[in-house]
Amino acid sequence: MNKEDIRSLTRISRSLWGDLDQSVAISEDTLTSVSLLNLSDDRTIERASKVMIELAERNPPTLLKLNHPFFRLAPIERFLLTSAHIEKWPYERISRTLGIENNLLEPWLWAIRLKFCFQESQSGIEYPRAPGALGTNCPDYDASSPWTQRMMDDELGKRERFFLQNHLIVCDKCRKALELTRKMIFKIESLIPVKESSQELENANDRIFNSWKIGEVTFRPIKLETSKTLINFISQPKVQFLLASLAVFCFYWFTKHQ
Ligand SMILES: [Zn+2]
Repeated sequence: MNKEDIRSLTRISRSLWGDLDQSVAISEDTLTSVSLLNLSDDRTIERASKVMIELAERNPPTLLKLNHPFFRLAPIERFLLTSAHIEKWPYERISRTLGIENNLLEPWLWAIRLKFCFQESQSGIEYPRAPGALGTNCPDYDASSPWTQRMMDDELGKRERFFLQNHLIVCDKCRKALELTRKMIFKIESLIPVKESSQELENANDRIFNSWKIGEVTFRPIKLETSKTLINFISQPKVQFLLASLAVFCFYWFTKHQ
């Protein structure tokens, strides 16, 4: 787990709760309980995100900034936009986090993007649409899950990417379709209010990161693999206090029983 993982988690938490203090407290509590499962770092963040989404859905936060269009979306919709736009998680990771089939994600993400950009926000940009009258070599444009979204999200297979890159050089219509999607995606990114950091948030991230590290060596000793981790463990004041107490106890025990 590195600090960027912690930043991801607090950003996801902010997208669910809005309020900074509440977001930090919930991400810290959730991380503490999920880390006891001893999963890999990625899975820990994914599981913690899932737990927080469920929590936000069961207990809708009262302090939501409801005047912001982003916070009018459902918690799971806010998570989808944050994980795709801000965290840049691949589709596979988002699907795994939510426990859904990979092929369900694309149309869902596209629908939420359109909803956020054109129903909830006054984005003032052109609605993404299929290229007019497809040419014989143009790829199919599925209006509920277009290739333009896959391309912008960097989710094309090698062959599809190669074909599209070559096709876009010669086809104005497909280029225009991609441009409309690109503008929408950049617009959405600018409308998600959890990107900015602050000193207060960074301090909170540092604190969560440090307590996670301490938890790693005290509660999950199976990860004690390197001498560095062992030194971290021994250098903790409470561990040193315990060792000193043990030494004093042994000393008295031996002197008493001689
Ligand atoms: Zn074309």
